[in-house]
Amino acid sequence: MSHVLIVGAGPAGLAAAEVLARAGVRVTLAERQEQAGGMPLSCGHSPFGWREFRRILSGKAYAARLIDRATEAGAEVRLAKSVAQIDAQGRVTLTSDAGLQDLAPDLILLATGAREATRAERLLPGDRPLGVLTTGSLQDLWFRRGAVPFRRPVILGSEMVSMSAILTCRQAGAPPVALLEPGEALVARAPFRWLPRALGLPVHRGVTLTDLVARDGRLRALHFTDARGRAQEVEADGLVLTGRFRPESGLARLSGLEIDPFTQGPRVDALGRTSHSRVFAAGNALRGVETAGWCWAEGRAVARAMITHLQSPLPDGPALHLGPGLAWAMPQRLAPKPALELQLRASAAIRGRLIARDAQGAIRLTLQVTTAPERRILLPMAPLLALDQPLTLSLEAE
Ligand SMILES: Cc1cc2nc3c(=O)[nH]c(=O)nc-3n(C[C@H](O)[C@H](O)[C@H](O)COP(=O)(O)OP(=O)(O)OC[C@H]3O[C@@H](n4cnc5c(N)ncnc54)[C@H](O)[C@@H]3O)c2cc1C
Repeated sequence: MSHVLIVGAGPAGLAAAEVLARAGVRVTLAERQEQAGGMPLSCGHSPFGWREFRRILSGKAYAARLIDRATEAGAEVRLAKSVAQIDAQGRVTLTSDAGLQDLAPDLILLATGAREATRAERLLPGDRPLGVLTTGSLQDLWFRRGAVPFRRPVILGSEMVSMSAILTCRQAGAPPVALLEPGEALVARAPFRWLPRALGLPVHRGVTLTDLVARDGRLRALHFTDARGRAQEVEADGLVLTGRFRPESGLARLSGLEIDPFTQGPRVDALGRTSHSRVFAAGNALRGVETAGWCWAEGRAVARAMITHLQSPLPDGPALHLGPGLAWAMPQRLAPKPALELQLRASAAIRGRLIARDAQGAIRLTLQVTTAPERRILLPMAPLLALDQPLTLSLEAE
């Protein structure tokens, strides 16, 4: 019987576990937390589950369903086990309080999720006070432990997850006092981007944070310049850093997998195969954040590709290169019978043409797009596969 190790028991890992176990594969799921469920476990709010169960569920209820389905199918879930490294032969080192353990599965799936950029990664200036945290940590503190470390926070960023942060802070009795967006426009789609105004929350765009002012180790105020270059101050005892997700790729990096400089996740082909012959990847480990339902679908699709691979590996397809106008593209290589959708993100808001050029610079495909950063762009893979050659993708204004 083939054996697959899945790293990470979030929606992608749990969905893959169910598919693989139902196909008769021995599945071990290693999760570093003490509970399975991934990010949704820290989300007391909805909406989760529409794509999967045709129901709107809270994150916790959704996670519970995915866990039940994976374990009922026969997957073994090992909690509080962190995968520390995968060697060149595919041998895996698991760490836990009990010490180190080695496994030698036939294939490995990285479903390690994504996290928001930290304070250090955002190069925030000023003091290092308490009360500065990401939405992920905020949700974890409030929904799992019932506490938040501030009463008057400021929200930095305006992605969908920022709206989630606003609601969580209000629920925790700490209504935000301002929303600061570094860009010129709010990022979340309507109607979600109307939420701050609807709640009477002051919104500042084009913001550059210039100082975090602390006293006795606690945040007291934020200094920033606004879109017109005016210096402003807001009194606040907390700062929630929202969005700017990047894949949790520590394990992939430590294990010597090729990392895509644009997505910051492992480079993959359209089957989810990484540069390591035994390692696949799915879910937010591939790129910044998508919804749980999207990651769940990716987990299932990559699991099916793994089942095919165990029987008879498919050949490699041509590479996709990134050209001007695009922030990232995933996957970075085509493959027959693709499991993943070809997703792209623009570097800036644009109305224009998405262009695929061959190695000689000839235009082989175009698609009209109107988009903004953080908006998902999907490019049909079949016409690109039919061209059967390396292509460079770019986004050009009309
Ligand atoms: C604040 C917030 C609110 C959100 N709200 C919604 C919403 O309302 N609706 C929605 O659809 N989506 C929502 N999302 C997005 C959703 O949570 C994610 O899309 C989804 O959880 C991604 O699934 P995943 O399996 O790829 O990763 P994750 O859910 O992040 O799971 C990854 C798992 O891998 C584990 N792991 C990582 N490294 C290792 C290792 N080395 N060894 C062992 N285990 C490891 C982690 O502990 C984690 O449990 C929200 C996200 C955030 C941050």
